[in-house]
Amino acid sequence: MIVGGGIAGASLGAEIAAQRRCLIVEAEEHCGYHSTGRSAAFWLESYGGPKVAMLSRASRPFLEMPSADFSERGFLRTRGAVHLGLEESAALLEGVESRRIGRQELERLIPGIRPQWHSAILEPGCADIDVASLHAAYLRQFACRGGQIATRTTLELAQFREGRWQIDLAGGNRVAAALLVDAAGAWADEVAQRCGVRSLAIAPKRRTMVQLKIGRGGLKDLPLVDDSAGTFYFKGESDSSIWLTPHDEIDTDPCDAAPDEIDVATAIDRFEQVVDWKVDRVERSWAGLRSFAPDRLPVYGFAPEQPAFFWCAGQGGFGIQTAPAAAKLAAAQLLAQEPEAMVAEIDPTIFSPARFA
Ligand SMILES: Cc1cc2nc3c(=O)[nH]c(=O)nc-3n(C[C@H](O)[C@H](O)[C@H](O)COP(=O)(O)OP(=O)(O)OC[C@H]3O[C@@H](n4cnc5c(N)ncnc54)[C@H](O)[C@@H]3O)c2cc1C
Repeated sequence: MIVGGGIAGASLGAEIAAQRRCLIVEAEEHCGYHSTGRSAAFWLESYGGPKVAMLSRASRPFLEMPSADFSERGFLRTRGAVHLGLEESAALLEGVESRRIGRQELERLIPGIRPQWHSAILEPGCADIDVASLHAAYLRQFACRGGQIATRTTLELAQFREGRWQIDLAGGNRVAAALLVDAAGAWADEVAQRCGVRSLAIAPKRRTMVQLKIGRGGLKDLPLVDDSAGTFYFKGESDSSIWLTPHDEIDTDPCDAAPDEIDVATAIDRFEQVVDWKVDRVERSWAGLRSFAPDRLPVYGFAPEQPAFFWCAGQGGFGIQTAPAAAKLAAAQLLAQEPEAMVAEIDPTIFSPARFA
């Protein structure tokens, strides 16, 4: 049983369903209601440090050109990223294609950029991910391979007895399973506790997104623009709208996250210090939870004290862009098989929960 039908549960489920009888339980009415449906939807190689980058890089070819039985088209659309305000000597993560650009090129890429921004690093490989299609393709493949999905179904309690999990679902149903996968996003620790497994201090943090209508056109292909201090990023959404965040990271309990007015206002204030564009209105705003383990690396592996409990959690702000490789890495461990070529070079112990023992 996999607990959670977001991108983590769906992608891992799709990888194992051909070989194991598998049920995904999802508390909400549809899979993807929480973090997966609320992301900023980009692939950025330099994001998350060198160990996360291994998973992002390994995932890229699949995201770009999946096999025909998975999807007829790829999930990426390249737009590039501009990292503002990095000191002249600064460089991005080693191995990431990038180059320094000056004021002239900045003005070409971001017309109306304010004068205090005179140089930046351009990361041309940054791409949008069609998250809804990717998630749907994983769920489809999971179902095609015999997997079952039960939505509006919450794991309440599980006990490991005589070599099996006895699992109580909300509403009084009881099922049994040999293995339990915790892909519950912000609820990962809570699910572990309900299964009698030691939690790992996986902390949900709220992030706010704002869609602004701007009084000018030509914005759709705008690069992703962020600053080295980590105080905002924005990218083009339609011809005259953008997605913006104040880069907030607010500790919270797991919940149906909603934006706070102050964070929306902060985002707009920071945005207005970057470009001289007129903000017409807030078209919509939303918030989602990014959940981090204490070292901000994801956790894939069996709980050291309970070998029938598998962690698939702590995907922070990179759970979409790393999903294809992460699912293959996790599936190889879960099925005790050799990892597929996509992840053969990645040491799975980096992401093992045993690192917190
Ligand atoms: C604003 C924002 C921007 C982001 N931008 C990006 C980005 O640009 N690129 C990127 O790669 N990542 C991004 N992320 C991160 C990415 O969205 C997450 O890492 C990813 O969606 C996590 O997926 P998940 O499946 O672990 O969690 P979720 O999608 O939250 O799924 C977990 C599911 O578990 C279910 N669940 C919990 N408890 C139970 C229970 N007891 N029983 C049954 N079901 C349960 C929940 O209902 C939930 O649906 C962003 C996140 C946010 C919030």
